[in-house]
Amino acid sequence: MKLIAYIRVSSQNQVDHGDSLAGQEESINKWATNNGHTIIRKYIDAGSSAYNDNQRPQFNIMLREIDKQDFDCDGVIVYSLSRFSRSIISQAAALSILEKNKIRILSVVEPLPEDYMTYKLLLTIFGVINEMQSKQNSATVCDRLQGTADKGYFTGGTIPYGYESVHVTDESVFRKKLVINEEEAKVVRKIYELATKGNTGKGWGLKKITSYLNDNAILNRGDYWKTSTLHRILHNTIYYGERIYGRKRVERSGKINPPPTIVKSPEIISKETFDNVKRKLKSRDLKNNKDRSIRSNSLLTGIIKCGLCNANLVITTGKSGNYKYYTCGNKVRSSVNSCNCKNHPKDKLEEIVKKTLLDNILIESVIIKILNDLKIILRANDTDEKELRKLNLQLKSKQGILSDFYKKLLSNNIEFDETVKMFISSEQNKLNNLKNDIDRITCSKKITYKKFGINQIRSFIKSIRSLIISNNSELTKSFLISLGMEVKVYPKN
Ligand SMILES: [Zn+2]
Repeated sequence: MKLIAYIRVSSQNQVDHGDSLAGQEESINKWATNNGHTIIRKYIDAGSSAYNDNQRPQFNIMLREIDKQDFDCDGVIVYSLSRFSRSIISQAAALSILEKNKIRILSVVEPLPEDYMTYKLLLTIFGVINEMQSKQNSATVCDRLQGTADKGYFTGGTIPYGYESVHVTDESVFRKKLVINEEEAKVVRKIYELATKGNTGKGWGLKKITSYLNDNAILNRGDYWKTSTLHRILHNTIYYGERIYGRKRVERSGKINPPPTIVKSPEIISKETFDNVKRKLKSRDLKNNKDRSIRSNSLLTGIIKCGLCNANLVITTGKSGNYKYYTCGNKVRSSVNSCNCKNHPKDKLEEIVKKTLLDNILIESVIIKILNDLKIILRANDTDEKELRKLNLQLKSKQGILSDFYKKLLSNNIEFDETVKMFISSEQNKLNNLKNDIDRITCSKKITYKKFGINQIRSFIKSIRSLIISNNSELTKSFLISLGMEVKVYPKN
């Protein structure tokens, strides 16, 4: 069939799986290819609101052009019917235009029956579901949380360090409110003090403060501190009395709507201290940026681990800045005393690893053995053929269940309520999972290991050996990563 694709991205749920513009487009293209359809044109409404048709200019243009019969098409494909219309009234209007022009709606995630009457009734049902859901999601939930936050109540989530939540009764409803936890607040003040002036008047960085707290058994609710936690504490505006609520939502939607709410909270430090620390950390960051690029270019980072504590080894520089070392990440993050391992000079360790690869792994006998093992594993996977048949049967039976269910639903043998809605969406999820499994197996069957003979093995070894000898650490590194290589360093003995 010749199809028109209609894609709408809502401003609220862009992060949801498959809801992004690219995600919908990809799913639609894949679906069309798999089912032998051609997409002749696309209409895209980006960032429009759920049930205001005035904000869907492309949708209206599409309907007008369909009605003028500007082009020859058989159907409109959407990712989900919720993209098509969320208001049952506007859906009915749109449907009558489509119907007049003998154009069907097709949906990637909602399999629609062939039979025309069933199809039409089902569309109406989905229209109602989507209208209900959309109103619930965008209006009720947000408003409720927003209202709670506006009044200064705690809306849930992790309680920020330095605070605790207490129950308060308001209009005979139990609510939570944040109050200062004096014990923890002392630690927060100490952290800000160390960041401002350390113990000699010069402010400390995150690593040093983390070590100090952990070494002095000042813990984070029973756990060791991490630099990332301290980073959050030193950047959270709640500590000078402004809790920002709803910022994430704004960032995600990409629109300045609605604005974040600032809720007054009991303050632990002054705004002046906060701003001062923020400035200091920023200038430190600029200095550290140079080190970071060296780190990501290092051959073994992300591959090599400490044999004693299993932490990743990271690059550190000696006091003079001239020597680089692989150092246990635990020692860097928590405290120098947290692991007994030594630092390893960068060049020396990389040479050892390369030599081991060249002498013990990248030789013909070893590669042939690895490849043979691989072939045995892959052959075992040939039973996937059986699995594939099984999955295809399951898929058919699931589709049968759904279509039976729709028939019952339409002949009123089942009452249409919340459970029915949940059943449909859970069955559709299962259906999609099955399709994914089938895709995965079909893809894995395309691996061409069988064609990999002795000549290929030799030229493979030759090119990888020359890659390692060439000192191109970026390429060598991506090779090591693609091998799934892991190196562990143990102390002597
Ligand atoms: Zn370690």
